[in-house]
Amino acid sequence: MNILTYKLKFLVLSILLSIPHLLFSQNKQEASCGNITSSKSLAFYESIKPQLKTFESEFLSTNHSKGTVPAKTINSIPVKVYIIRNSDGSGGLSTLDLDETFSNLNAIYNEANLDFFICDGIEYIDDDALCHFKRGDEKSFTDTHYVPGLINMYFTNYIENESKESICGYSDNIGRNDIVVMKNNCATNGSSLPHELGHFFSLLHTHGADNNTQTTELVDGSNCDTDGDGICDTPADPRLSYKVNTSCEYIGNQTDANGDVYTPDTGNIMSYSSKSCRTHFSEQQLARMYAFYMTTKNYLSCPSFNANISVNESETCDNSLTVSFESTCENMTEWQWDINGDNEIDYTTKNPTHTFESGIYDVTLTVSNKSKSIRKKYTNFIKVGTHIDLLDESFEDFNMLEKHGWTSNDVTGHGYHWYSNFGDTQSGETGPLDYLNSENKLNTYIYAEASGAQPGDITEFISPCIDVNYQNSELEFSYHMFGEDVGELHVDIKTDSGYINNVIDPIYGSQQDHQTDDFITKNVNLSSYANETIKVRFRAVRGNGWKGDIAIDNIFVKTIHTPISDNIYKVYPNPIQGDLLYIKNSDIENISTFTITNLVGQPFLSGTVTNSPIDFSSLSSGTYLLTLTNGKTKVVKKIIK
Ligand SMILES: [Zn+2]
Repeated sequence: MNILTYKLKFLVLSILLSIPHLLFSQNKQEASCGNITSSKSLAFYESIKPQLKTFESEFLSTNHSKGTVPAKTINSIPVKVYIIRNSDGSGGLSTLDLDETFSNLNAIYNEANLDFFICDGIEYIDDDALCHFKRGDEKSFTDTHYVPGLINMYFTNYIENESKESICGYSDNIGRNDIVVMKNNCATNGSSLPHELGHFFSLLHTHGADNNTQTTELVDGSNCDTDGDGICDTPADPRLSYKVNTSCEYIGNQTDANGDVYTPDTGNIMSYSSKSCRTHFSEQQLARMYAFYMTTKNYLSCPSFNANISVNESETCDNSLTVSFESTCENMTEWQWDINGDNEIDYTTKNPTHTFESGIYDVTLTVSNKSKSIRKKYTNFIKVGTHIDLLDESFEDFNMLEKHGWTSNDVTGHGYHWYSNFGDTQSGETGPLDYLNSENKLNTYIYAEASGAQPGDITEFISPCIDVNYQNSELEFSYHMFGEDVGELHVDIKTDSGYINNVIDPIYGSQQDHQTDDFITKNVNLSSYANETIKVRFRAVRGNGWKGDIAIDNIFVKTIHTPISDNIYKVYPNPIQGDLLYIKNSDIENISTFTITNLVGQPFLSGTVTNSPIDFSSLSSGTYLLTLTNGKTKVVKKIIK
């Protein structure tokens, strides 16, 4: 090594060593994101994972389909924009900057099939005090400057968090408190608003939910689904603040638990890389945001300009259904209906009528007025002639959007919905608490969330079509209704001739004495529906306040028999030991037969009762029904294996 190269190397080294300091001083002025993903949010995201996965795979398969690529359906999302200015009306984000901010935002989010539009113009809030915005300030004016049912986006001069640190922005997406607050000079930097909306649509930072400890996501990707941001095509990220140079290169040298060096994506919008380096979401992040919108946020609607629809009927157990569609928003001049999800326009009138054959159909409506058009997709909206053989739903791994699944129907349209959930309902003094199921996991159930809805609102939870194949069938379900504002739970049954309301007495008001009390079991006699096809509808009516969550669980149809005489047969040992069950028949005059079924009547074993035991070795552990009959009487006993 000659002296010149040595000097050069020394120089390069000195510059390299000084870069972190340079970066530090630069970043010091950059306000950070104020979003903290709470453990409640994480639990909520976890609980809707099956639904999210459904939409993520739909999104990814559309993205990767070969041949004629189906046109993407971009959903329009209304945003109410509030620009906070000085009390004298000066200052505030300019409309030019706002327009540019939105077009940049949409260029990024169209990749996620989402598009934002400003609903009902800009609202100005002229108030010196709010120009220096403290996180939580928005709560003081939500009566006057908040529209429920759309994203409320506030732009202000300065935002500080609870620790009085300057932050770029934050968002809130839980409990229909749909807000985003942005600092003006962050809104225009190209990546901070997409980042905050990323949080709004459930994304975590690529370094994970915790800003203070190093990610446990491994570089080799082996735990990418559960650790870090829970997304697999974003590499493990050791948190990039002060670790990215001006060329957007990662300059850290940390290693993960395996000793592997991180290779993070410094261009990812959800990272803590320099704001000017952040340019893109990964494909799976886009899929996750789309899925979160479709499962959780597609109620968002601009009151004066929307693609909302109403129909006379959307599902039937028959093999054909005529649906009258109605576009409920006035002031529109054009309508484009795709009523079967094939991306072709089927009707261009305001209120078309269509007859469907058996199947499940997506419906998309695009509406336009003179200046713009917006679109909304309704997944699995029409269900015609879809049946299930057995109803046995405990809601563990439940997917609300499964094709042959259940339907949640917000009848009054104020956002009163049934959700799947586990643990508690995130509202104190109402709803079930953390029960453990038989696998020692938190019990999952369905509940109508009272927060955000209005008194008297109605929401329906409708089963798939159920064939009642046996006499003496019974519907069993359990419910948890605790809280001072609990409304009503009704059970209705639909047959060929329409709904029969209140097949049992409606359940009014709080039913449990304590929130910690377990679910209560209820039975509905289905004898009069034997050999019919029915749907079961749980109909919740909201009470006067938010302390009124109504939960249901363990819904199944079982076949029951009334024992006529129980002293003819002796059955032992029960529970079964060594796979053998003995039956002693005292009525030796008559030959008896036996059938082993599950609780809903599916037969597994049958034969004639003899002195030899019944061999249960081919059946798995569980509860069975043993039906014994001698032609005159019938006895049913519950057998545990
Ligand atoms: Zn953030």
